[in-house]
Amino acid sequence: MERTLVILKPSAIQRELVGEVISRFERKGLRLCGIKMMQLDDEILSEHYAHIEGRPFFQRLKDAMMITPVIVCCWEGLDAVNVVRTMTGSTNCRNAAPGTIRGDFGISTQENIVHASDSPENAEIELARFFKKNEFFDFKKISFDYLYANDEV
Ligand code: ADP
Repeated sequence: MERTLVILKPSAIQRELVGEVISRFERKGLRLCGIKMMQLDDEILSEHYAHIEGRPFFQRLKDAMMITPVIVCCWEGLDAVNVVRTMTGSTNCRNAAPGTIRGDFGISTQENIVHASDSPENAEIELARFFKKNEFFDFKKISFDYLYANDEV
């Protein structure tokens, strides 16, 4: 089973979309294996957004990510990284498909409600960045046998 990181950004907190976003991943059938509220700082954001260092919006994005605490979650499922990215939609909410989180709730590129890991490799790195080992929880969902066929997992 694959795990991925989702961050509910300050735009999700301020726009009161926390329940809506979490509910979408739950209803999809993903298993919530970790969740917490965190105040991010410049250091962790510089690491998290190292791939866009040098872009003109880099500092502005980091500042926006510190305006309120965020909620970090770990979701698990078959192909969870791809499933969650598809549900998240394109970076620019104005181009994101209706039915996706960004497509349904945003109109900005920066204030795009959620972060979602973009590859299994990055998901592992990002989960280790935001969670301690003992903050992940293993349990079997009672719906498991109705979420997957026997030979699928
Ligand atoms: P994604 O979050 O879709 O994986 P990126 O990794 O490219 O996208 O960018 C990280 C975050 O930086 C985006 O989610 C968005 O908040 C912000 N961002 C990306 N491009 C821009 C831009 N052109 N202007 C403002 N903010 C941006």
